[in-house]
Amino acid sequence: MLNTILAELQPYQANLVAVSKTKSEKEILNLYKQGQRIFGENRVQELVQKAENLPKDIEWHEIGHLQSNKVKYIAPFVDTIHAVDSLKILKEINKQAKKHDRVIKCLLQFKIAEEDSKFGLDMDLGKELLNFLKENPMDNISIAGVMGMATFTYDEEQVRQEFQNLKRIFDQIKSEWFPDEEGFREISMGMSGDYKIALEEGATLVRIGTLLFGKRY
Ligand SMILES: *Cc1c(COP(=O)(O)O)cnc(C)c1O
Repeated sequence: MLNTILAELQPYQANLVAVSKTKSEKEILNLYKQGQRIFGENRVQELVQKAENLPKDIEWHEIGHLQSNKVKYIAPFVDTIHAVDSLKILKEINKQAKKHDRVIKCLLQFKIAEEDSKFGLDMDLGKELLNFLKENPMDNISIAGVMGMATFTYDEEQVRQEFQNLKRIFDQIKSEWFPDEEGFREISMGMSGDYKIALEEGATLVRIGTLLFGKRY
């Protein structure tokens, strides 16, 4: 399955985040041996445990909503945090990364889905946050792009429109805040059920769990 997905990503030059939440270290190692290096988890405790036990060249992504008081546990090693949706959490990531003399990549999560249970910024809040950062640079974080989750629906057209919306948000932020910064480049969107649409709409990172590891129980 890994190779099939990688072949699908290749024409788009997108990267795969293998979402390994709830899956065993053995299952992760199995994909690792096939060459996969980027893995995503949503629970901090689980991520810390796995990072401790598994090979050190794994690039760990925290993809779930993150509480400020948990940032310190992952700051020593996490590569990218996907679901950043407040200044508060960004400040905490910067503070904890500084302690380890690291720069942690952060993706701003925007709310693109219809459902109101989903986390994320709207454009006004996003602008506020980016303007604050412009005035008050944080040296130990790097805003690496945006992240979003589409509505859970069989209506493909709706999903497509939501992904298009995230792409527009990315383009707007890129041109207004990061025109010359290579580092602002990621659009994290698409999961097992909708990653093909996400790729067509410009995803650079897809987050796939079920399709790679089987169902979670
Ligand atoms: C679990 C999860 C995924 C992967 O979902 P699948 O449908 O299993 O591919 C992607 N993104 C986030 C934020 C998740 O929590």
